[in-house]
Amino acid sequence: MATGKINVSVDNIFPLIKKFLYSDHEIFLRELISNATDATLKLKHLTSIGEAAGTEYGNPIIEVKVDKEGKKIHIIDQGLGMTEDEVKKYINEVAFSGAEEFLDKYKDSAKDSGIIGHFGLGFYSAFMVAEKVEIITKSFKDEPAVHWSCDGSPNFELEPSDKTDRGTEIILHIADDSTEFLEKSRISALLTKYNKFMPIPIKFGTKTETLPKPEGAKEEDKAPTKEVDNIINNPTPAWTKQPADLETKDYQEFYRELYPMQFEEPLFNIHLNVDYPFNLTGILYFPRLTNDLNVQKDRIQLYQNQVYVTDNVEGIVPEFLMMLRGVVDSPDIPLNVSRSYLQADGAVKKISSYITRKVADKLSSLFKNNREDFEAKWNDIKIVIEYGMLSEDKFFEKADKFALYPTVDGKFFTFEELQEKLKANQTDKDDKLVILYASDKEAQHSYIEAAKAKGYEVLLLDSPIISHLMQKLETSKENISFARVDADHIDNLIKKDEAQISKLSDEEKDSLKAELESVIANKSYTIQLEAMDSSASPFIITEPEFMRRMKEMQQTGGGGMFGMGKMPEMYNLIVNTNSDLVSEILNTKTAKKKERLINQSLDLARLSKGLLKGEELTNFIKRSYEMVK
Ligand code: ADP
Ligand code: MG
Repeated sequence: MATGKINVSVDNIFPLIKKFLYSDHEIFLRELISNATDATLKLKHLTSIGEAAGTEYGNPIIEVKVDKEGKKIHIIDQGLGMTEDEVKKYINEVAFSGAEEFLDKYKDSAKDSGIIGHFGLGFYSAFMVAEKVEIITKSFKDEPAVHWSCDGSPNFELEPSDKTDRGTEIILHIADDSTEFLEKSRISALLTKYNKFMPIPIKFGTKTETLPKPEGAKEEDKAPTKEVDNIINNPTPAWTKQPADLETKDYQEFYRELYPMQFEEPLFNIHLNVDYPFNLTGILYFPRLTNDLNVQKDRIQLYQNQVYVTDNVEGIVPEFLMMLRGVVDSPDIPLNVSRSYLQADGAVKKISSYITRKVADKLSSLFKNNREDFEAKWNDIKIVIEYGMLSEDKFFEKADKFALYPTVDGKFFTFEELQEKLKANQTDKDDKLVILYASDKEAQHSYIEAAKAKGYEVLLLDSPIISHLMQKLETSKENISFARVDADHIDNLIKKDEAQISKLSDEEKDSLKAELESVIANKSYTIQLEAMDSSASPFIITEPEFMRRMKEMQQTGGGGMFGMGKMPEMYNLIVNTNSDLVSEILNTKTAKKKERLINQSLDLARLSKGLLKGEELTNFIKRSYEMVK
């Protein structure tokens, strides 16, 4: 038996490994299975190019075994194995210096909580959970097998082994503080988390499979069963295949494989596949999104060569696409770095803009190829698109051609179509195109009707971030503005040249205003007398566009306006001086009756705006019954 000392600069690196990687001990399994996979794929390559004469590649698998009584975990592969010299070189020197280098780096960045992966530690991560590690390995080359062991000190032992079959077995003697990893359920969960899509089949125990009943079997006969290998992974997940080889149902099946707890079908998917100037594959799914912007737990997963890294893709996937689901696999993303470094990395920036472009192109082709279907899905995807238009100018440019603006009647326009459609009727006297919208069809019904009576189109814009987008559209397009139907009375929203003639004289107006003010003095409305159509509502409550929108923007973040979120709502009371009821109010002689007419009209206006509640609503109803008697 040979013994030796690993060449170390620090006396003992192993306590350091434990200490620094305190929270992520579980990655040892991912590292060891990655090595087993690499060893198998290398052998596959060698046999395919004829460099491994006499070696049959066969159908190699990787096996993981837990021996709870013996306190051991075995990871066994049928890969290319190592000769004695290779163990000395790769394990004692290369792997070790790799681990040392990694720790060096890690020490500096350990305080940066944004480390996304711990790739780089490799083989020596085994010492995070094991007090002793053994390697029994037989190279595919015609050389004897060797047995290496190390108890966590820099001393190792190397002796011949009688292993005859090709490959490597790693044996971990689990330390007392890591016995959780001797639980089958824990290992099974780790295999599912990190190794579910690795390219070589991984066996973990066996499972019972039910076979078809033999011919002539009776009803009560039990179906025969058989023990088969329990393969925990799918070695060829959908994203590793060519888009041309996949059908819709394959994408749906893969979605279910990724998120077994998701029961809703995704709306559509985007297959990412690029190999220059960086390597990236993946599939992104648009899930059905509701207006609720809460974070979901089923997030986009990041892989490197089919090895799971993290489901925190911040910095890699553009922020507005974080609401999507799926997989991104790229070997070109540096992983043992902090997030701030990651965001500044050139390759990562390119990846992020590639993803943005692919998503925009996909949406654009969906829009062009099947507009009807795109319209049907609009409600579920609009948040992502609107958010993208706000946050990425490149995306805005593309999305501007397919982003839709639905009307309250269920028609859909692109912005260009909208301009074309509205221009004749909704351009005001200053040549500005006024786009009317509602945010709630029910609550703003009377205002919508008033706009429609003028022949205007009313959009239905109800996403939580729509006020930000309107602001952006108003600044990036010329001569347009958005106005919610209840922001003012309709003739003021789209001001035309023709002035309405007022039925009331100036004196009459003054006295009306004084009377109104005295009756509704205690309520905070700004009273505005307007000469409108005699058929328009006598009293209307409006909410000025600017203030309301600023307030909304503040509430959804990023509005940046001086504390408007805390400001009370502001309402105007518009009184139509041309309506018969207003004439009647003016001409009523008894003060009591006048007051009742004013209050009743005000309450009706408030009712139509959804502002009449509680005691005031009760009083209104009582008063109304009195009046119908
Ligand atoms: P890396 O995988 O990044 O090279 P590791 O520390 O994980 O670093 O492994 C060091 C080296 O040890 C590998 O490059 C490989 O040469 C060798 N090795 C580790 N595990 C195996 C294995 N199961 N079969 C063959 N060689 C292995
Ligand atoms: Mg490795």
